Amino acid sequence: MRLILLGAPGAGKGTVAKLLTQIDGSVQISTGDILRGAVQAGTELGKQADAYMKAGDLVPDDLIMGIMETRLQEPDCAKGFLLDGFPRTIPQAEALKVLLNKLGIKLDVVANIEVPREEILNRLTTRRTCSNTSCQAIYNVRSNPPKVAGVCDKCGSPVIQRDDETDEAISKRLDTYFEKTAPLIEFYRQEGLLLVVDSPASEGVVDAIQQRIAAGA
Ligand code: AMP
Repeated sequence: MRLILLGAPGAGKGTVAKLLTQIDGSVQISTGDILRGAVQAGTELGKQADAYMKAGDLVPDDLIMGIMETRLQEPDCAKGFLLDGFPRTIPQAEALKVLLNKLGIKLDVVANIEVPREEILNRLTTRRTCSNTSCQAIYNVRSNPPKVAGVCDKCGSPVIQRDDETDEAISKRLDTYFEKTAPLIEFYRQEGLLLVVDSPASEGVVDAIQQRIAAGA
């Protein structure tokens, strides 16, 4: 499948993407994960992105499009991809449209996961992430804690609170989402690709996406 997952930070895009990858071998592409990996590795991209990310701001569109142009042409994307956290702005969505046309790729669906702002705030402040950049498993101290406190079940690395998940950065990220990313909902509605899902559980979101893809197949 080839799809975009839209939704505010904390809406569950990453969790849904991970469940979907198990269905047909499509790869999850998270620009946030790629950027965090680059920051930790100290690459040129990481150095350029770091300050924006810590402040809860978006990284400039040209940097993101550079990443995605390369990533979408890697061989593992041939089976399909789940875009998680990209596009984030109208210019990124427009550039993606041009890029996909050039590559001869058609999207199946753009799923917008709707979660009330209060629930998002609740989830983000209690979210914890595996610090190993090739794992980045997600936990929640209330609803899904690791078996041993502070230790990743999957790879044994420390589980941490992200730098951009302080109250201040979270509030900034949500403002940025409503200002810059929420307009994509209308953009993809007009493209005829939008599916709105408001299921509280990730499994419900996955079911709705599968049904839509099956109906469109
Ligand atoms: P995420 O893990 O998707 O919430 O992303 C974490 C941070 O990475 C965001 O707050 C942005 O600073 C940056 N980021 C991730 N994806 C994008 C994108 N598509 N465009 C701009 N900045 C991004």
